[in-house]
Amino acid sequence: MLDAGFFHRWMTAAATAVDREADHLTELDSAIGDADHGTNMRRGFTAATAVLDEEAPQTPGAVLMRAGRQLVSTVGGASGPLYGTLLRRTGKALGDEPEVTREQLAEALGVGVAAVAQLGGAQAGDKTMLDALLPAADALKTSFEEARKAAEAGALATVPLQARKGRASYLGERSIGHQDPGATSSALLIAALAETAKVDGAGA
Ligand code: ADP
Ligand code: MG
Repeated sequence: MLDAGFFHRWMTAAATAVDREADHLTELDSAIGDADHGTNMRRGFTAATAVLDEEAPQTPGAVLMRAGRQLVSTVGGASGPLYGTLLRRTGKALGDEPEVTREQLAEALGVGVAAVAQLGGAQAGDKTMLDALLPAADALKTSFEEARKAAEAGALATVPLQARKGRASYLGERSIGHQDPGATSSALLIAALAETAKVDGAGA
């Protein structure tokens, strides 16, 4: 079972990964965006984990909702509201259970990802974070490790796509041949989840 501490450690692991990869994320965003994705993500996740350390919300749902709220208020740019929505809606779907199963998280993540699609008006194949998140939420029904692999594969699969949403879409065909920054950061978020589960011995 996954408790509030697990979700807190997931967010901390995500912040560490984002911090480590910030330059890479910004480099990807400089090719097809405005070169701020790494900075945006680092600022958001640093603030989210700081508030979690301070307030220590007591349930899995409360941890994700609090982190999501902090992301929205600290990140300008498209990714703030989108990641904020992802975490808040996933957290809300978890309800106020003190512990949840991987299967419950998979279902809740599906709700959060659907909310991102609704907010941004994007769908699979539009070269956005959804290309990593949609397959990850689906694969999480099977295992943490399958979710990690699916997110990673989804991010890599954005390279040949033409962007249809967000800033990258302004480039039209010139967006082809570059990996989407948001799909890349989403893969980091899911890899941090799988890593946390492994360290915790939370099972597959
Ligand atoms: P901005 O585009 O405002 O500079 P960021 O650089 O932080 O924001 O984030 C860019 C990422 O946000 C993109 O790589 C893409 O994955 C994601 N994104 C942008 N617009 C959308 C959208 N409408 N739906 C889903 N994801 C989107
Ligand atoms: Mg940007």
